[in-house]
Amino acid sequence: MRRLWEDRHLGSYAAVTGAALALALLIGWSALGNEIDNYAYDLLLHHYAVPPHDPGSIIVAIDDATLNVNGGVHNYRPLLARGLDAINAGHPAVVALDMVLADASDPVEDRQLAASFARTHNLVLSAERVADEWEEPLPLFASNVAAIGHVHAIEESSDGMTRSLTLEQTAAHRRHWALALEAFRLFAGARIIESPDELRVGRVIIPARVRDQRPMRIRYTAGSLPSVSLTTLLHDSSFVAQLRGKTVFLGVTSQSAAHDRAVTPYGDRITGVEVHAQAFETLRGGHFLRDASNLEILASCLLIAGLALSVFAYTSGWHAYALGALLLASAHIMPIVAFAHDVVFPYSAPFATAWLCVSAAASFQHFVVRRMLRKTEDDKERYQRAIRFVTHEMKTPLTAIQGSSELIGRYNLSEDKRKQMATMIHSESKRLAGMIQTFLNVERLSEGEMRLKHDVFPVSEVVESSLQRIGPIAERKDISIHCSEVAGVSLRGDRELMEYAVYNLLTNAVKYSPAGTDVKVTAFIRGDWLHVAVSDQGMGMDDKELRSIFRKFYRTKRAEASGESGTGIGLSIVEQIVTHHGGRMEVTSIVGKGSCFTVVVPYVASANTGTQTSKI
Ligand code: ADP
Repeated sequence: MRRLWEDRHLGSYAAVTGAALALALLIGWSALGNEIDNYAYDLLLHHYAVPPHDPGSIIVAIDDATLNVNGGVHNYRPLLARGLDAINAGHPAVVALDMVLADASDPVEDRQLAASFARTHNLVLSAERVADEWEEPLPLFASNVAAIGHVHAIEESSDGMTRSLTLEQTAAHRRHWALALEAFRLFAGARIIESPDELRVGRVIIPARVRDQRPMRIRYTAGSLPSVSLTTLLHDSSFVAQLRGKTVFLGVTSQSAAHDRAVTPYGDRITGVEVHAQAFETLRGGHFLRDASNLEILASCLLIAGLALSVFAYTSGWHAYALGALLLASAHIMPIVAFAHDVVFPYSAPFATAWLCVSAAASFQHFVVRRMLRKTEDDKERYQRAIRFVTHEMKTPLTAIQGSSELIGRYNLSEDKRKQMATMIHSESKRLAGMIQTFLNVERLSEGEMRLKHDVFPVSEVVESSLQRIGPIAERKDISIHCSEVAGVSLRGDRELMEYAVYNLLTNAVKYSPAGTDVKVTAFIRGDWLHVAVSDQGMGMDDKELRSIFRKFYRTKRAEASGESGTGIGLSIVEQIVTHHGGRMEVTSIVGKGSCFTVVVPYVASANTGTQTSKI
């Protein structure tokens, strides 16, 4: 496939698209990006949520009704003891108590509660992290339980929503797994096996990295989990049967007593005990969401930027825009597809990358292609003008030849007159042939069809003959030409073409200078290089014009305005000739002050080097 623009544009194109990518990444990792990602995550979680199908847990709620009937929140330890005995009658698999029993109260009541704990199979108690310390159950309670899990369920996200839960918390050199994880481990009858990137419980592998305290995203069910009020359980034993084989989460849900309210991504306010039960269901379902790594995100953004770059570098018009739109659509769909495969991919980074890179690449193409089109039109116009000029130039000698030959044929002319006309026909046709030959030679040279001659000839000869040819023209314009050249220095190459080059520079110097000024031709050696410089005191050129003068058919506005005719081909031919001789052109110029064109070529022998000056 062909690229739409030349190498020199490639750097700026890549820079523009690269800047767009950098900006997109900045947006992706900013607070705004985070907010967008969370919003998209909540929508997707909602969309892919499943109803609680055959849940393995049940919440036994110490709700307002329970507290009202049983003497309020201050009298909860005897209530707990009675509640646990009622729960045990239902033979649950695990009982997780979402209450931190860190303080001693009435010794008789505490002993009664401890006895209830001892009777409870697979009981998990709670510990809470307060600053850098643990609030743990009293030893009296903790001695007879299967596990102690932490109950840090409220996520401190920027928008206050609880999307994930840390499975591991360490403080004061003591570590606790989350209450839900301990309950699940007992439920599954397995051990927790740790590795840096995941935890394994039985056959369930939880993608929770040790970094950031092993966070796990909670897959909230579409509806709430089964729940029964503790007071109902105490007064109606028929409900007890529901608990068989289940993990019971026992905790306070009362509006007035429970302080730990979390907001789910669906916008529901739920209590801590419900968050633990939801986390338990996520673990039991074994259907985890994994966050895409930074490397994966970066790689996908780079891929998107690369595709945007290629689309607008290799295609144009509706093809390019259709592919660009396809790329945008893919960037939008990518996080959805990833979510369907249980990978949480951020939305903002690929989204911003696609939009910014596609817009940047498309705008670049739009402007550069338009500029190239304008340049082609300019070149075409110049070319047509040059053709008109060349044909005009050819017409003059042809008219002379035509007229003279007609005169000879039609009239009886004197011998002298006939000779004069024949000489004129000869010289004009020679001029015409020379003109055509030079153009052909240069064209064939640039096409690589013609081999350069390898004569060795003195530089002075080339300069002298050019000076002779330009002499009359310079005189007519009252321009004096000063010449200082290196005698004895030779050049290897094509004498005719080198003469064409020097003559062309001289013609320009005279053509683009006002009357009464000086033109200087200097030749000198610097290192292994011969320099032949033609300087004038003419109209000069600015930097922008200087960059274009070797382009075919290019003429400066100043030159056009001067009324001097030209094709804009001369210098392009000069440059080709000099390049074919293994050299280069150097130009300096100041507007209104003058220009200096220097031919720099390798020099050959330099016997008796000296400087000789002549003036025409
Ligand atoms: P042209 O036939 O127009 O002279 P050239 O290829 O020889 O074509 O030169 C290209 C253009 O470079 C000219 O049209 C003119 O604008 C500019 N130029 C060349 N030589 C000079 C000079 N000595 N001073 C000012 N402008 C120059």
